[in-house]
Amino acid sequence: MTQQTNTIHQNETFSLEQFEQVLHDIAERASACDQSPDGPRTEFRWLRACGALQLVLPGNLLDFNHPNTPLLLKLLRDVGKANLSVGRIFEGHINTLYLIHLYATKRQREQWYAGVIEHGHLFGIWNTQDQDVLTFEENEHIMELKGSKTFCSGATLVNRALITGNINNDDRQGWQMAIIDMDHISPSRIDLESWKPLGMKASGSYKVDFSGYHPDDAELLGQPGIYLNQPYFNAGAIRFAAVHLGGAEAVSQATLAYLAELGRTDDPFQKLRISEMMSAVINGRLWMEQAGRYFDSWVDEGGHDDDLIAFANMTRVNIEEICLKVMDISNRCVGARGLMEQYELGRIFRDLTFYLRQPAPDATRIKIAEFFISQPAAFNEKSF
Ligand SMILES: Cc1cc2nc3c(=O)[nH]c(=O)nc-3n(C[C@H](O)[C@H](O)[C@H](O)COP(=O)(O)OP(=O)(O)OC[C@H]3O[C@@H](n4cnc5c(N)ncnc54)[C@H](O)[C@@H]3O)c2cc1C
Repeated sequence: MTQQTNTIHQNETFSLEQFEQVLHDIAERASACDQSPDGPRTEFRWLRACGALQLVLPGNLLDFNHPNTPLLLKLLRDVGKANLSVGRIFEGHINTLYLIHLYATKRQREQWYAGVIEHGHLFGIWNTQDQDVLTFEENEHIMELKGSKTFCSGATLVNRALITGNINNDDRQGWQMAIIDMDHISPSRIDLESWKPLGMKASGSYKVDFSGYHPDDAELLGQPGIYLNQPYFNAGAIRFAAVHLGGAEAVSQATLAYLAELGRTDDPFQKLRISEMMSAVINGRLWMEQAGRYFDSWVDEGGHDDDLIAFANMTRVNIEEICLKVMDISNRCVGARGLMEQYELGRIFRDLTFYLRQPAPDATRIKIAEFFISQPAAFNEKSF
């Protein structure tokens, strides 16, 4: 079920020019991908071939050792603009590589990076779960997983999955990360009936049952509890926000193209809406740009954790509002006719509406308020 990657052997570093061409092709195929039972398998073959899976590895354009988060966020936006489902899976790959960069041993890092470079391995990160929670059990010193993960984006495509669950043995207690080999998970463990969403169908975010898998020590990533380390955990929200904003950009472009096709751009009411819609999108770009800059300045610095988390939370919330606003305005611009199947907008609306539902939206807003309540000086004295 997972991608056949062992014949890839692509050692090229990331090529921006080819990447842009690939994104163009991904956008062209987005409707077909939405209907395909294979999901974005072809798209990830293309992304592999242009080196995009190694984008953040040492020596590549966005090597995590030399932070360049504004550009990373821009590229995530561009992928989201081409196809939000591809963007979700691609973002999961980047997020996993970031956790490896932060927490893996040298040996693990070399091994997982080699998987990407030599075999084109795609990584996923699956933390969400339902009633049958995932745990690391131990029987006579042999570790065994029990339980499932839900919302596993790219479940049928991912080669190495970062999963999380409780561990409780003599050496380790708490929320443990492990990166497991999906070739050892039988396709029958991926519940294809579990993903019947409003949108983001092509993300194939199925429920996966990991029961019976025996992780070895070399597959455990970091110490228990480290997954939730701040500011990395909350500040990471800017990466999915970037993909979301790409969806809003796609909506705005499709709206303008539709109005131009129908010769409706001279109308003053449409102009008013276009003005509001484009301002909202540009507003989103400014949030992302600044979020990227603060991330690079503050994430490893130690003295600005609260500021970084507050700004990332505000970025996420503002991007959500911007996306909702852009869809609302576009809806009024194009009317019912523009939401017929021959146009792209219906699919993008479904994808973006659904994908915007991310964890703890209310709690995020409350945390923003608490930051400014508990640190009144933040507004006047700090850089934002
Ligand atoms: C397309 C897509 C792909 C995804 N891919 C992945 C993936 O690859 N890996 C992964 O780990 N996860 C993934 N997720 C899951 C995601 O990270 C979130 O966990 C999930 O979207 C949150 O779902 P929800 O809106 O139902 O959350 P809920 O927590 O149910 O929130 C819904 C609403 O209820 C409110 N609420 C929450 N708790 C309470 C309460 N106790 N009382 C009252 N109100 C409450 C919230 O504030 C919110 O307003 C994906 C999600 C989507 C949509």
